[in-house]
Amino acid sequence: MLDKIVIANRGEIALRILRACRELGIKTVAVHSEADKCLKHVRFADESVCIGPAPSADSYLNVPAIISAAEVTDSVAIHPGYGFLSENADFAERVEKSGFIFIGPQPETIRQMGDKITAIEAMKAAGVPTVPGSDGPLTDDIERTMKIARDIGYPVIIKAAGGGGGRGMRVVHTEAHLHSAITLTKTEAATAFGNDTVYMEKFLENPRHVEIQILSDTHGNAVHLAERDCSMQRRHQKVIEEAPAPGITPELREKIGGRCAQACRQISYRGAGTFEFLYENGEFYFIEMNTRVQVEHPVTEMITGVDIVKQQLLIAAGEPLSIKQEDIKINGHAVECRLNAENPENFMPSPGKITKLHVAGGPGIRFDSHIYTGYEVPPYYDSMIGKVIAHGETRESALKRMHTALSEMVIAGIHTNIPLQLELVIDPAFMEGGVNIHYLEKKLGLQP
Ligand code: ADP
Repeated sequence: MLDKIVIANRGEIALRILRACRELGIKTVAVHSEADKCLKHVRFADESVCIGPAPSADSYLNVPAIISAAEVTDSVAIHPGYGFLSENADFAERVEKSGFIFIGPQPETIRQMGDKITAIEAMKAAGVPTVPGSDGPLTDDIERTMKIARDIGYPVIIKAAGGGGGRGMRVVHTEAHLHSAITLTKTEAATAFGNDTVYMEKFLENPRHVEIQILSDTHGNAVHLAERDCSMQRRHQKVIEEAPAPGITPELREKIGGRCAQACRQISYRGAGTFEFLYENGEFYFIEMNTRVQVEHPVTEMITGVDIVKQQLLIAAGEPLSIKQEDIKINGHAVECRLNAENPENFMPSPGKITKLHVAGGPGIRFDSHIYTGYEVPPYYDSMIGKVIAHGETRESALKRMHTALSEMVIAGIHTNIPLQLELVIDPAFMEGGVNIHYLEKKLGLQP
C-alpha cells in the first residue's frame, strides 16, 4: 500500500481523500494556501505544508511548491482531486519524473483526452458512439467545411479542440453564419487555450447529460459503475446529479457501460474516469472524458456500494481491481444537491463566516463538506461548500429524503443556494424525471 501521500487540493474533496486514506492506513500531507490554514483536512492531516499565498495561481496551481512538499515530507504519491491540476498532463508528467506516483491516468492519456479531437478519435476507434461531425479539425477550405455542415445538417456547433469549462463553443443555425462563427471561435480559442484548432459537431437540441463512471487498473481489468444523470445545469455547471439516470434500461446500461469499460482496456486507462455523453432519443453521443474523480461521484457510491476514492488509491498502488462487473448491482436511487455559498437570487458569491451550522441526518443522508461553525468561507475559490447526498429504495424516496434534509439544514452567516435547491427537488418536471440540459436555465428565466 502507499505509505504517505500529498493531497493537492482543498475543501470537501481534500477531506474526502483524507478519509479514504485513513481507512487504508495511508499517511497524509495537506498542502494549503495561506488562506486555508483552518481547513478541516489541514487540521486532521498527519502533516501540513503551506505552499503559497491565497490566489490559486500561487498555491494550488504552484507545481514546484507542490512537488517540493512531496519531497520534504517523503511522500510517495500525489492525489490531485478535481479542478486545479487534476487534468494537467504537464503536471502529471512532472510528478512522475520527480519520482512520485500520480494518482490518476498516465500523462499521455490525460493529454490525449484533454484534446477533444484526439479523445473523440480514440473513442471512435474503441467503438464508443460519438456525435456526427467533421471527424477531425476544420481546415481553411471553407467549401469543404460548408459541405460537411450540409451533410451533418444544421444546426451545427463549432468547438475548440482545447476547450473546457463550457467555453470555446458556438452554435450555427445557417450557412450564412458558418464562416464568421469559425473565425470567431478560432480567435477566442487561440487566446483562451493557446490552440486555435476547431472542429464541428451536429448540435443536439434537447439532449440530457448522462455519464458513465469507470474504474480501470494496471492489470487490464476495467468495470463500469453505471451512469449518472447531470442534466440540471446552469451555465454548464451541474447543480443536481443523480444515479441511476431515469429511464435507462438495464440492457442499454450494459451496452454503453460495457463499451466504455472496453475502451478503457483498449487504451490501458489507469484509475477512475468518466465518459460524458449527450443522450437524445435513446442514443448516446460521446462528448468528452474526464480523467479524474468527479464532484458527483458520491451518487454512484451510494447505489453501488463501491468507494471510488479508495479504488483510486488501490489502483495507484498497483493493486488489481477486486470487483468484477457481475458483482456490481444497483441498489436504489441517489441524488446529490451541490451547496454553494451564493445568493440564491442572483448567484453572486457569498463568502464570510459561518456563525451557525446544523447538519441534516437520518436514513440515507450523507453530507460531504468541510464547513463547521466559525469557519470562514474565503472569497478566493469556487463557491461550493458541500454536497448533500440522499439515498432511498426508489427515486421518489431519495427525493423526499433530500427535501427533508435540505429543510433541516441550517447554515447561518452566509447566503447559500439551499432555498433554490429546496424548490428544485419538488419541481414537477424534475420529479417526473428525465429533464434535458436546458430545463433549469429555462425555469430560471435565463433562456427563451
Ligand atoms: P467542456 O469541456 O467545455 O465542458 P463539453 O464538450 O463537455 O465542453 O460540452 C459542454 C456542454 O456544451 C455540454 O454539456 C452541452 O450542454 C453543450 N454541448 C457540447 N456539444 C454539444 C452538441 N454537439 N450538441 C448540443 N450541445 C452540446
